[in-house]
Amino acid sequence: MKEIVIISGKGGTGKTSVASAMAYLKKDELVLADCDVDAADLHLIMKPQNHSEDDYYSGIKAVIDTGTCTNCGICAQICRFDAIEVRDGSHHVVTLDCEGCGYCFLRCPVNAISIPEQNVGKVYLADTRLGIPMAHARLKIGADNSGKLVARVKRDARKLASEKEKALILVDGSPGIGCPVISSLSGADYVVIVTEPTRSGLSDLTRVWDLARRFDLKTGCIINKADLNPEVRDEIIEFLDSKGIKLLAQLPYSNDFTQAIIQGKTLMEHNPQPWNLVFDQIWTNLLKEL
Ligand code: SF4
Ligand code: SF4
Repeated sequence: MKEIVIISGKGGTGKTSVASAMAYLKKDELVLADCDVDAADLHLIMKPQNHSEDDYYSGIKAVIDTGTCTNCGICAQICRFDAIEVRDGSHHVVTLDCEGCGYCFLRCPVNAISIPEQNVGKVYLADTRLGIPMAHARLKIGADNSGKLVARVKRDARKLASEKEKALILVDGSPGIGCPVISSLSGADYVVIVTEPTRSGLSDLTRVWDLARRFDLKTGCIINKADLNPEVRDEIIEFLDSKGIKLLAQLPYSNDFTQAIIQGKTLMEHNPQPWNLVFDQIWTNLLKEL
């Protein structure tokens, strides 16, 4: 079983359009994992029908039992995050500000504070309209620990792949270089970086490559909207050459990306020409590397 992760240093490069198009061409051979848990959008194209869902608990937040609390004020004084306020004469935790450090729990003289794990979202196993099994998740607004949730989604995807006897797992990772991306890369066999020829695109490409190389991962790159800025595109190609990163494809700027997303379709369902051919070539290049 091989795991391919698609990431981008920044949002808006077309990562999910690329992931869904790649999935479409190998729909009988793979399992999808949507690990862009902070802002998932693969479901807009894949339209998963969930056949199992699980509450996801992670991280702790302080909770004050106002019946036991004597309003001594110690917790409000010692909380470094100013997460405890007095409302209507009682002490309360401002959940969004609480970092779950547990210090107030240790210092409360009457044990009025508990620190339960939080229900921060749901994880799902699904079948998609294309028949591709998919693991995905929904994080509640403001919830953290998305890196841990990514690890859970990947674990579920591996289980699905093993049950369904699929040889490939295709992971739609998060943009950026934060914790969820690190979690997406863990245990992968190959990483595809989707970038665009802009100054920020080039800068973010170098950062995300620096992250991928720490995992000693084979890396390929797709330059989307490659014709928009030939000067920066050439700089990107120079960077890829210097780092031994395989250039998997240069995609032209195309309104098909927007139109396909609006219609909830993959690129080739929206417009078979030229996308079938383009993505077939991407798979050929990638599998040679793999
Ligand atoms: S330290 Fe305990 S008793 Fe004192 S205000 Fe906070 S919760 Fe209430
Ligand atoms: S757990 Fe830490 S951050 Fe949260 S309220 Fe208590 S002291 Fe403040």
